[in-house]
Amino acid sequence: MGLIDRASGASLWRGYDYYTGKKVLLCKRIDDHVYAGKVSGNGADYDVEINLEKPYSSKCNCPHANGRRIVCKHMVAMYFTAFPKEAERFYEEAVCAMEEEEERQERLEKALEKCITKMGKAKLQDALWQLLVDGPEWQYERFLRDYVPEYWE
Ligand SMILES: [Zn+2]
Repeated sequence: MGLIDRASGASLWRGYDYYTGKKVLLCKRIDDHVYAGKVSGNGADYDVEINLEKPYSSKCNCPHANGRRIVCKHMVAMYFTAFPKEAERFYEEAVCAMEEEEERQERLEKALEKCITKMGKAKLQDALWQLLVDGPEWQYERFLRDYVPEYWE
């Protein structure tokens, strides 16, 4: 697994923003696997070193990552600066995944609509009971409020 595979989704996107926002002040290739430099953070510049061979040996002195074995947004920004093609790929894949997810949701919504339309009254009543009893309390409360006049007595 590579460095960015170990970053959280939030760190990836924040790191990508840092990269496109040119927050990486310095990025030097130390050897084949190690890059080091400075990244401008919230109110301070951080010393960042990324190790592609041993991702968890990467270092950053920001409060989030200092002394911990995590991949922070500064490391991600440094990685994308060293490998712009990877940044492009990350972005394209993310956009593609979002579009696919949207299409999937639309498909599911249509299927749901079709399914509900075809259900008979008894089945619908069963399903509603199930949802109200098993679902979250706010849903139960809302149903009472919206459909049961005794609620307001
Ligand atoms: Zn950091």
